[in-house]
Amino acid sequence: MESLMQLDIKPISECRVLIVDDDEIIRLTLEAMLDEHVNVESLAESRSVIPYCIENVPDLIVLDVQMPDMSGLELCKIIKSQPATENIPVIFITSSYDAQSQNNCWQAGANDFIAKPVNASTLYHRVKNHLENKLRLEALIKLTYKDALTGVYNRLYLKDEAQNSLNQCKRDGSVYSLLMLDIDYFKLFNDHYGHLEGDDCLKLIASVLKSSVKRPQDMVIRFGGEEFLILLPFTDNTGAEMISKQILSSLQAKNVPHDLSPLKQVSVSIGGVTCTPSQATTLDMLIKQADEALYEVKRAEKNSFKLISI
Ligand code: GH3
Ligand code: MG
Ligand code: MG
Repeated sequence: MESLMQLDIKPISECRVLIVDDDEIIRLTLEAMLDEHVNVESLAESRSVIPYCIENVPDLIVLDVQMPDMSGLELCKIIKSQPATENIPVIFITSSYDAQSQNNCWQAGANDFIAKPVNASTLYHRVKNHLENKLRLEALIKLTYKDALTGVYNRLYLKDEAQNSLNQCKRDGSVYSLLMLDIDYFKLFNDHYGHLEGDDCLKLIASVLKSSVKRPQDMVIRFGGEEFLILLPFTDNTGAEMISKQILSSLQAKNVPHDLSPLKQVSVSIGGVTCTPSQATTLDMLIKQADEALYEVKRAEKNSFKLISI
């Protein structure tokens, strides 16, 4: 099982911090204070910040309160109201430190603020603390989407995130394939070799599945105890067939003994569906179709696949 000690956290030195201030001298000063620790970029106009962030999400923003085109407070409210930018920590640099000004910053959604004149060590340590918290939180969220035994995505990921890939295919009018896999005679495997061997077998199969899909947007999900889904955005029937064949042949090459299977080795059956999704298409519908195809494979001939196009 992945432990918390193995959280996949990038070093602070790889983080990108965006400084937004209309005053060039201040921009250069703040850049000089941070650039030995992080990657610093800067912008002079607050209106260019949102388009910049959407292209190129920074890890943190250091923001001037008073700017001529749009105040930092207004900009911060926009940053915090958009899903693409809402999790970027914002630290204000402010010259007014009265109670009202401080309240304004918090109300705009600030994560922190620093009064002028800025002390280099305070700026760096505030930036570092916020970056560390954000990176840890992101790594923990990533971990909650992974199955602890096999390291592939879990049902929570399917529910929360996987829909995005289907939506993208809908927007592009592109094809989408989904495979469902089930291990053959796995109950007998557990009965014969024991549950721990069964767990090792699940891990091995997950690794075969991960190495059988090559594109970054392909997703392997542990759907049930011994059932997996593979989501293949932008993949047609031919692609789904290639991947199915690849999985069966890779697993055959592993030659994992299974005395109680007629094949004498561990195998899987695969049911799949390919479609050009309409607005009404849901993942649940595709899973149901793939499940039906899988059921037919199980009845007819295990260790094989059946793909349908709808
Ligand atoms: P079929 O060829 O028709 O798929 O038969 P099967 O025996 O594989 O199917 P069945 O659904 O009857 O059995 C699934 C078995 O998967 C039941 C259980 O022993 C095993 N299983 C489910 N989750 C886990 C797990 O996390 N670890 C282990 N070791 N076994 C599991
Ligand atoms: Mg099953
Ligand atoms: Mg099974």
